[in-house]
Amino acid sequence: MSQLAIKWIKRISFILILIIVSFSLVTFASSSPKFGLPINCNLGKNCYIMHYVDHDPTSKEIDFNCGRQTYDTHNGTDFGIPNLQVMKQGIPVISIADGIVLRLRDGVADHLVASESDKKATEGQECGNGLVIKHEDGWESQYCHLKQNSIVVKNGMKVKKGTILGMVGSSGLASFPHVHLSLRQDGKIVDPFVGITEETGCQMPKKPLWEKSLNYIPTGLIEGGFAPEIPSQKKLWEGKFYHSQINIKSPQLIFWIHAFGVLENDEESFQLINPNNQVIINQKQPINKSSRSWMSYVGKNNKSTLEKGLWIGKYQLKRGNKIMINLEQKININ
Ligand SMILES: [Zn+2]
Repeated sequence: MSQLAIKWIKRISFILILIIVSFSLVTFASSSPKFGLPINCNLGKNCYIMHYVDHDPTSKEIDFNCGRQTYDTHNGTDFGIPNLQVMKQGIPVISIADGIVLRLRDGVADHLVASESDKKATEGQECGNGLVIKHEDGWESQYCHLKQNSIVVKNGMKVKKGTILGMVGSSGLASFPHVHLSLRQDGKIVDPFVGITEETGCQMPKKPLWEKSLNYIPTGLIEGGFAPEIPSQKKLWEGKFYHSQINIKSPQLIFWIHAFGVLENDEESFQLINPNNQVIINQKQPINKSSRSWMSYVGKNNKSTLEKGLWIGKYQLKRGNKIMINLEQKININ
């Protein structure tokens, strides 16, 4: 090969390398950031996503996966915890990326919004105790409904991804204990499950912004257990029957479940088994109305005292042949 040819090959290779390097740099710079979770918990174990961002531009609602686990105009993702007793133990809210605390509010009482007047009382303070963090490239994250007096950062403070900001609470317009995360770029809401898009609806291509891929779980268990009386959803959110003890003379033995994202025509089945291994209750029923949050139970009225020993409750929620929730819960009655 002539000297001239070698010279040209070297030049062309150099130019090619230059092109590849600049292309990767541009791609890297314009690639979307990756965000961590806003809560320090084990998703699917002791916390869950209750609501996603609403992608329907009308008064209806649709989540990014064409499901109904959102409500009209909901502009963030709600990470829930089982009840107020768990909230009291303290579940940390953490920063989803490095940044600076832009503004915050604390001092709002925790409560469960259950009525229209409760809702009205939160007007102007819907976010409750919350804060906004400014990140690079025009990104902002907002965290809402933190526990009263739990915010541990100050305005202007630098935070890292994972820095504890405060604790999950139920302040502002919250009907259950959770942290609401809103993500914005240049002031515009972005669904972290979708990435930046101009499209509405749920058919758009998705480039999630989470650093670890998150499964879409529209249906699941919040918790299940036993109670000595018929529960209400409010009492379940309060954690009234969380780790409850049942007295042997209790007039009722109730096996309950608290779930999210049930759909019409799902089928639920309950079994209650006594310490002699006898099936006391065996009940199957269709769900007659889709619901974002769901409570159901079976129970036994006690004419005398309950049998001593280990009682077992079994629950299944099925959609067609698919098992959506499967729970076995035990309680020792002495
Ligand atoms: Zn929310």
